[in-house]
Amino acid sequence: MMKKTAITVAFGDGIGPEIMSSTLRVLQEAGASLEIEEIEIGQRVYERGVSSGIEPGAWDSLRRTRVFLKSPITTPQGGGYKSLNVTIRKSLGLYANVRPCVAYAPFVKTLHPKMNLVIVRENEEDLYAGIEHRQTDEVMQCLKLISRPGCEKIVRYAFEYARQNHRKKVTCFTKDNIMKLTDGLFHKVFDEIAKEYTDLEHDHMIVDIGAARLADTPEMFDVIVMPNLYGDILSDVAAQIAGSVGMAGSSNIGEQGAMFEAIHGSAPLIAGQNLANPSGLLRAAMMMLVHIGQGEVATRVHNAWLCTLERGIHTGDIFSEGNSRERVGTDKFTESVIQRLGQKPTQFTPVLYAEGDGEVKFLPPPTRRPPAKKELVGVDVFLHWRDGLPDKLGELLSQTSNKELELKMITNRGVKVWPQGLPETFCTDHWRCRFMAQTPDGTIQHRDIISLLERVSMTGLDFIKCENLCNFDGEPGFTLGQGQ
Ligand code: NAD
Repeated sequence: MMKKTAITVAFGDGIGPEIMSSTLRVLQEAGASLEIEEIEIGQRVYERGVSSGIEPGAWDSLRRTRVFLKSPITTPQGGGYKSLNVTIRKSLGLYANVRPCVAYAPFVKTLHPKMNLVIVRENEEDLYAGIEHRQTDEVMQCLKLISRPGCEKIVRYAFEYARQNHRKKVTCFTKDNIMKLTDGLFHKVFDEIAKEYTDLEHDHMIVDIGAARLADTPEMFDVIVMPNLYGDILSDVAAQIAGSVGMAGSSNIGEQGAMFEAIHGSAPLIAGQNLANPSGLLRAAMMMLVHIGQGEVATRVHNAWLCTLERGIHTGDIFSEGNSRERVGTDKFTESVIQRLGQKPTQFTPVLYAEGDGEVKFLPPPTRRPPAKKELVGVDVFLHWRDGLPDKLGELLSQTSNKELELKMITNRGVKVWPQGLPETFCTDHWRCRFMAQTPDGTIQHRDIISLLERVSMTGLDFIKCENLCNFDGEPGFTLGQGQ
């Protein structure tokens, strides 16, 4: 008898309880050796006034087992609630989200029968840092944070995953033609790390054309690594065009733990009607079994599931005349998988999880470089102002320039409007005013910024924040204004 592995399980909301019961039944019948701890998350917890959707006590179980099989939850609409998924991923440091998207043609209808790709999505950074502010009457801000260690971890993970799972190519998607510093860093780190994996092909695409190719010719891709937001969106697209969002599972991997879930949501409209396809959660559970060293059980479950699909026993979301034989509910689908445990598919290639397959567990820690030589060379002061045209603001602010800092440029939503802006540019009430050092060595001190802010405030202007402008080893750590 295999030693039991403790896992934490949450049944979630909507179709969550049905697909979790189905999945646990299959795991049990397949001989998985698990000790299950159940926690409650989601809607009922939110309704009890816990804005995170998870009770403090539930963390004890997660921190003890470090393996979480999770059903989807319903995120309440409106403000005041934090996304539970984002909280769990970030609190447990689950930096890699791995989403295999595979076509099961000809049994599951798809336009892309040869599609077989894995999206590796960065899970902790980017716009999901959740740092948002209302800065003026008209403008909201969301901070996009991308770090070098974060990029190194996810990019290395993607290459290691490709190697361990016998894949040939890693593609990177970014938008670094526009976001030169944040996405630019992701791309740069990708190019650096790719050099260490000469056995694998690699390429980079701007995310817009990459997304178009993914939707049109997904069979050209193998492993795709990307920052958080693009990965979130494009993995749903990929799962859907492979057959159905109901079919894809995902793992969230970190050094301290792992979470496994279907990629779809709680599908409240079909909840409780025995209609849901449990395959996404079942696929996630297979990934979990590999993760905890029960690859043999994962092999049995995966093959039985493939047998069920190729017999044409399909839930409504993947049922199609000509491809399917029998339309079944969640229960019957589950029974069909259980009946086929021990069988191998004859149309699909049978699966065999070997030692070392699956996700990457231990990576070398990201390298911490020695700090760069950092010089403070200016400051962007952001203002809330709506009392006139840009030239008037330029005139007011020019009075605040002194021998240390001089006003060089004003932009509105990133476009230069002073000096010599175009009258056609639409201006909101949110202004970025760039002051550059005028000192002999081109650098300033913190106190110069503080005294500038005092002068700005004295002129009656409402500054909402400032952003230091620094050179790092002589390279500007800031971008130019559009039109500058
Ligand atoms: P959804 O994924 O729940 O549903 C999208 C569509 O796919 C619906 O038509 C649904 O019926 C269908 N579908 C999804 N899973 C299916 C399955 N297993 N079998 C058959 N059909 C399936 O997305 P949504 O409607 O945008 O979101 C519903 C709720 O889920 C929202 O509250 C959302 O916040 C939440 N959500 C949770 C997670 C999560 O917990 N990981 C992820 C995404 C969305």
